[in-house]
Amino acid sequence: MPSGPELKEDITRFCKERGADLVGFAPVERWDEDGIVPPAFRPRALFPQARTVIVISMAMPLPVVETTPSALHKELYDTTNRQLDDLAVALTRHLNRLGRASYPFTRDTYTSMRALRENNRAAFGHVPAAKYAGLGTIGMNQCILTPGFGPRVRFVSVLTAAEIPPDPMQSRELCIRCGLCAECCPKSAITPREDRVIGDYDKTACLEMHEELVKRRVYPCGICTKVCPVGKDRLLYRSKGIRKKYREERETLAANPDAPEYGSWTHVRKYGTPRKSREKGKDQL
Ligand code: SF4
Ligand code: SF4
Repeated sequence: MPSGPELKEDITRFCKERGADLVGFAPVERWDEDGIVPPAFRPRALFPQARTVIVISMAMPLPVVETTPSALHKELYDTTNRQLDDLAVALTRHLNRLGRASYPFTRDTYTSMRALRENNRAAFGHVPAAKYAGLGTIGMNQCILTPGFGPRVRFVSVLTAAEIPPDPMQSRELCIRCGLCAECCPKSAITPREDRVIGDYDKTACLEMHEELVKRRVYPCGICTKVCPVGKDRLLYRSKGIRKKYREERETLAANPDAPEYGSWTHVRKYGTPRKSREKGKDQL
């Protein structure tokens, strides 16, 4: 039965062969040492045998994220979440067969916008888990920013009784505090702060945006992940120096919905949802 570094290599290989872009390992003590996450939401409160949290991530390709809100972005989001959920369950079975009791925490554990309105908090936070597993730092937009993909990533976690060598946490803050996420948020839900990197976040305003997008069948929003300049994916897609375009998008399209410089995004937004749904959001990105 593999253990230590050998088990870590086995798990990493298992995940990467099934589509994971990033895999990180966090010892459960990091939740207690940091103390930010309330005790009832920490791994050992959910699964007392837990010794390590394995955080798995898949990236969302930037050109599709740039079309948000669109049916294409929704499909990518749903597919990525589903693939992550499948992978977490498959890894749990794999570890259980190796005699390492494990517990998958799937991506989205709410069932409707109504449930979110009643209790706008996840039972387990993948964002702090990803931070403790060394995958990134939390930016002004309250998302994990990763060196490879900025915030254009999704996460899932597997809590396991196995003790696995941990990954170091990121020592360098990745958010450059440019404020673009706050500036481009259609609901002004993010407010920069002087005293810390993570901005204030108006959950209710963000939820309102998502309720509108559910009606238009193009949930979720993700504009604050689209515009973030952090991430090597911008090199891959040759997407540097695009801030002005993001900043002016709403105003330009309000004046001219067919503005050619936004054609590749607005083209996609016209397809995949009934006209009536699209018209509900014609004044809003
Ligand atoms: S998801 Fe959209 S509404 Fe919510 S904070 Fe980000 S940009 Fe704003
Ligand atoms: S857009 Fe700028 S301020 Fe917002 S999270 Fe990214 S780097 Fe930080």
